[in-house]
Amino acid sequence: MGLGVLFITRKYPPAIGGMEKVAYELFHQLRCKVDITLIKWGGSNILLPIVLIYFFIKAFIILLSKKIDIIYIQDGVLSPLGIVLKKIFSKKIIITIHGRDITYSNLIYRLIIPQCVKQFDRIICVSKATSDECIKRGIEKEKISIIPNGISDTHYMFTTQKETTKNQFRQIDASLNQKKIILSVGRLVRRKGFKWFIENVIIRLKKERSDFFYFIVGSGPMKAEINKTIAALNLESCVKVLDRIDNDSLKMIYNTADIFVVPNIPIDGDIEGFGVVILEAASCGIPVVASNLEGIADAIKNNKNGLLVDPMDEENYLKQLRKLLDDEKYRETFGKKARIYTLENYQWDTIVKRYIEIFYSFGHNSMPECPLCQSPNTHNTGINNGHYRLYSCNACNLYFIDPVPTENDLKNNYKEYLREKGYKYLNNKLRKYKIQSLWKNRLLLLKKFVNSIDHKQILEIGAGTGEWIETLERNHIREYTGLEIAEDEFYILKKKFHNKIHNSSLISFHTDRMFDIICLWDVVEHFNEIEQNMKKLKKLLRPDGLVVISTVNTNSFSFTIKRGSWRYFIPPEHILYFNHKSLAYLATRHGFDLIYFKTQFQIQAYLTNNKKAQEIRNINIYLYQLKVFLEKIVNPFLFRRGEIITCMLKNKS
Ligand SMILES: [Zn+2]
Repeated sequence: MGLGVLFITRKYPPAIGGMEKVAYELFHQLRCKVDITLIKWGGSNILLPIVLIYFFIKAFIILLSKKIDIIYIQDGVLSPLGIVLKKIFSKKIIITIHGRDITYSNLIYRLIIPQCVKQFDRIICVSKATSDECIKRGIEKEKISIIPNGISDTHYMFTTQKETTKNQFRQIDASLNQKKIILSVGRLVRRKGFKWFIENVIIRLKKERSDFFYFIVGSGPMKAEINKTIAALNLESCVKVLDRIDNDSLKMIYNTADIFVVPNIPIDGDIEGFGVVILEAASCGIPVVASNLEGIADAIKNNKNGLLVDPMDEENYLKQLRKLLDDEKYRETFGKKARIYTLENYQWDTIVKRYIEIFYSFGHNSMPECPLCQSPNTHNTGINNGHYRLYSCNACNLYFIDPVPTENDLKNNYKEYLREKGYKYLNNKLRKYKIQSLWKNRLLLLKKFVNSIDHKQILEIGAGTGEWIETLERNHIREYTGLEIAEDEFYILKKKFHNKIHNSSLISFHTDRMFDIICLWDVVEHFNEIEQNMKKLKKLLRPDGLVVISTVNTNSFSFTIKRGSWRYFIPPEHILYFNHKSLAYLATRHGFDLIYFKTQFQIQAYLTNNKKAQEIRNINIYLYQLKVFLEKIVNPFLFRRGEIITCMLKNKS
């Protein structure tokens, strides 16, 4: 694995709360991207000093026994521990500051924590407001990155069966029928503004109308005081505090509520760092009305996923609530819009990418991991094409591009690529000639290794424009299955060869059949998930089966000479670049013997570069024949240094 990260958090499930959720999500998202070790505490924080000692001992052991590049501390309270570990092990420390963990007004806390945080290598703040508080306390602005908390749509909250949920909820209490539900979720502390909201907004709303009910979900020191207020104002019929409830019930309430309010008020020494609950509400499609204050302004963008109101501006709160209560259509359309915006901007997988970038920018090993052998020992070749850089693995000698193209990049480019490569050949003399020469030679080669090939099951990955199947058909070899991901090619092939061709990638191809020969003619360089592809291929191959591969060769003279303008260096179409050593490694890794390896000289590799590679494809047939003739002469003198590799792997049975 790549970068080693030690993740330390004192707030983790089963304990309940916003920070616990954040820690859980962050850890699980990071787990597949870096080599992460977790030290967590999921109980009460009353015994914090003891927890810190336990953390120290555990971290000490891990740091001695594992490769750790970065220590990630999940909140400011843990910063003294971070400093101790930094002094002993001189590791890079990255911390997230949430809000209160920097603003807490206790004198000792105020003297110690900011001094510790200052010394860390990177401070991630969950909001602009938190970042401002850090800067006020002397933390260098340059060290700060603002990354909001994320939400996870799949784990909780949003349900598609809103009506059912609503009905279930309303059955609990018949008086809720016909009422719109206004909801707040949060700890019962002063800065959340619940008491202010009841005394100034709810009381007035109640005088105007009776078609709403206000729920506050949460617990905290102000519980008794809030309940007293409700009783004193005679609001029991329309306001209720629900003490901490389980996740299922919370989910139910989120999906039942019509309006979500975040009536925070400014309190000295206390700040709302971010407020994940706001995003959760918005992601459930509920219109949010919130105070334009501190971290809330980082979670809610006015009119996009919520409505911002000045804190303690009761007139404006009333105005927004009346409008939302009266206009069902507005409520619904705004809720839908808010949900889409929130998911697009705050889902964890989007957020976590920014964490990864920061981690890697500090890691000793900022090189991407080798996709073939997974070694972190790779180096930048200095060759690039657009934003794709070419790396080489020091362990297995594979060359590969980084960043790895996404599925979408590939789809878009691959179409273009095949069009260039394929259609120009279709139905012309050259194509026929190639079938007679190149493809026939490939068949002859296979025949040397396989007895009675006409009875063998052959699978071709990437059937392209069908030269291989045509070659086989001409030679009365019928047991063929081809996979092609490009839809245009697939439909052309499908017309000719019907059920022998499937519109599928190797990974998503499902069949009960097993194959004797699997052909990867010029496709392995396109694989963006080589490990998965090889595993799938192995599953489909008979115990004594054969894999035949052709691909471009990085040991070729032309690559040594041309480097970045090598005609085969064309990311993102070509992702992996092999040679003898990396193919031998591939064979061993996946339980094959490399039984044949030869390279072929290609004149065009010296004549054109990757920007003009297409032009030569329309070459005149006689010139092409001359090219093949010349290549045949040169070939024997190019031991493993030709441009195109042909090799065979035999399954170790
Ligand atoms: Zn490698």
